[in-house]
Amino acid sequence: METLKVYFVPFFAQGHLIPLVHLARLVASRGEHVTIITTPANAQLFDKTIEEDRACGYHIRVHLVKFPSTQVGLPGGVENLFAASDNLTAGKIHMAAHLIQPEIEGFMKQSPPDVLIPDIMFTWSEASAKSLGIPRLIFNPISIFDVCMIEAIKSHPEAFTCSDSGPYHIPGLPHSLTLPIKPSPGFARLTESLVQAEKGSHGVIVNSFAELDAGYTEYYENLTGRKVWHIGPTSLMVHNKKSTTQAALALDHEQHECLTWLSSKEPNSVVYICFGSLCRLSDEQLFQIASGLDASGHQFLWVVHRKNKDDDVADNKWLPEGFEEKMRKENRGMMIKGWAPQPLILNHLATGGFLTHCGWNAVVEAISAGVPMITMPGFSDQYYNEKLITEVHGFGVEVGAAEWSISPYDGKKKVVSGERIEKAVKSLMGEEGAEIRSKAKEVQDKAWKAVQQGGSSYNSLTVLIDHLRTLVTKPAN
Ligand code: UDP
Repeated sequence: METLKVYFVPFFAQGHLIPLVHLARLVASRGEHVTIITTPANAQLFDKTIEEDRACGYHIRVHLVKFPSTQVGLPGGVENLFAASDNLTAGKIHMAAHLIQPEIEGFMKQSPPDVLIPDIMFTWSEASAKSLGIPRLIFNPISIFDVCMIEAIKSHPEAFTCSDSGPYHIPGLPHSLTLPIKPSPGFARLTESLVQAEKGSHGVIVNSFAELDAGYTEYYENLTGRKVWHIGPTSLMVHNKKSTTQAALALDHEQHECLTWLSSKEPNSVVYICFGSLCRLSDEQLFQIASGLDASGHQFLWVVHRKNKDDDVADNKWLPEGFEEKMRKENRGMMIKGWAPQPLILNHLATGGFLTHCGWNAVVEAISAGVPMITMPGFSDQYYNEKLITEVHGFGVEVGAAEWSISPYDGKKKVVSGERIEKAVKSLMGEEGAEIRSKAKEVQDKAWKAVQQGGSSYNSLTVLIDHLRTLVTKPAN
């Protein structure tokens, strides 16, 4: 049997790049020849793991394309949304993602793949694949549930016109769902071009597992006529493919001081707080989170990404007076101002709850670790993910948001109060949260089963690769 030559193009943001690189590594682990096309600074984020895979005998490599820094007016090395803290910089990175089309197309002309798997954000990939006659599947880093919500909201505008305040009931979905606030029309416009990019593809690959989508896959496939491939949780799948799971995890990250701190704590006693790689919260919102955590009386590990990265990090005027000192004295809280080893934190025995912005990767990682969530959406699809966690499955407590935002950088005018956060933390970590905690363990069990040999995601990867093989002989797109 001929090996397949598959090209992957991850988008320039951690939440997109991490799972698509996982997927590329999974395809390589099945013996196919894989190339990840990216820019130098993005490659640096994962090239160590690729070297390890190559050392294991996998045919996987990185092809570098130049990031058009000068054209978009960015300093050298700023190639990922993680490095942005405002809409202008983010806009330039998005523009660069369009400008690299000719270089990637040129590479594919010179050395055509059997199949192209780009991130959904590369909307130009439809035209490129079509002109070169290359079959294309799309990687969508958000959940199929979100796409169903987007479509249902689009088809029922009347659900939002009857009242100026929520909750708003969303009709037509497999579950009866409510949104506490009105979705922004800007978000609907933003998703339009992405949904368009899925058209003309041979299907959509998602970082999820069939059991989690609870009826929404069928809804989506009937609605769009496109096939969904669940290959997730990708983070569990990649560690599962090696026999040395713990060794692999340890190689991924060096020991961080927060892990030593967690190891001094009782099992399930610490609340972990992180708003992903992009969200920059306003000082007012950070103040409310600190007050809520303090008042809850629970221990916490808090990853803080401030709105203005250039602000002096040592200046803690935004915290309630004496907060840091009190937490230190009581040895109750730890703050990280930078990149945290999230998968390791979530998998630590001491972590008992996760206050999250509901980024899709964060959700899937928490599920994989069996950690129940406290949901406080930050922007875009995260308002929908909250509903999957709380109303569809019930493995989280809802804090909700004060207003809808489509950008992770825009400080919201309204803030979520410390009282709401305190109440949710107490409810999840106390007796009241027992059922939610047990549901988190049930769904974790399903996720682990899905990635084992014979499980739904494991089989889905096999079927996907067989399907890719059938595309090679057929002219497509
Ligand atoms: N992440 C991390 N450390 C951090 C912040 C984020 O490891 O300090 C990882 C996290 O584990 C996840 C990704 O970055 O894999 C963020 O993706 P997600 O979809 O959760 O949110 P986004 O950053 O796209 O809003």
